[in-house]
Amino acid sequence: MDYAIARERMVQNQLVARKITNEKVLEAMRTVPRHEFVPKELWGRAYGDHPLPIGQSQTISQPYMVALMTQQLQLEKTNKVLEIGTGSGYQAAILAELVRRVFSVERVPELSSRARKVLDGLGYGNVIIKTGDGTLGWKEFAPFDRIVVTAGAPDVPSALVEQLVDGGRIVLPIGNTYVQTLLVVKKKGKKIERKEVCGCTFVPLIGEQGWENG
Ligand code: SAM
Repeated sequence: MDYAIARERMVQNQLVARKITNEKVLEAMRTVPRHEFVPKELWGRAYGDHPLPIGQSQTISQPYMVALMTQQLQLEKTNKVLEIGTGSGYQAAILAELVRRVFSVERVPELSSRARKVLDGLGYGNVIIKTGDGTLGWKEFAPFDRIVVTAGAPDVPSALVEQLVDGGRIVLPIGNTYVQTLLVVKKKGKKIERKEVCGCTFVPLIGEQGWENG
């Protein structure tokens, strides 16, 4: 299988066709070898229009959802970005193509260590990962220009708003543990503005400012 051809097809049929227009986002999606972030037996399905299992009952998000969330972040090269939910490391690699530094938090140690290995193998030294509860953000490196949450939250975690720069934005799914709405949250002084993007389905964000485990 020619993965570069599969990626180009993914970009045209799943992203351009659905109004992903940011050229830099499209270029990042063309560049990152998504198959390397999924278990080997699923490499042949890596560029399909769906999420895939990555073990530990977790998933790598559908390519369109990764591109949409990235586009909604409106990234600039100098941005410091926090991702909650490293999972396979794929979204972190897309972000790392677009900004200088990416911080990513994953609660499941088996996933964060596998993601680290894949990212190292591909040379993404600008992604810094820690294992822990991302609903509390990552105080040591705050504030962040952009934050993306790749698991469904009951509401916007206040720790993440606190760790966002004024004028910064958070992209996250909010709802119940089955269906959510993708939101863009902008911080303007002490106020936040919320904009709804679309319906979506993510695995739950589990933690102190998320859902309870189980
Ligand atoms: N961004 C990932 C990727 O590119 O593969 C997909 C993430 S998957 C849809 C959601 C991830 O969020 C899971 O790996 C899950 O373990 C993680 N997660 C859930 N609650 C979390 C929390 N409180 N802190 C950090 N990670 C969390």
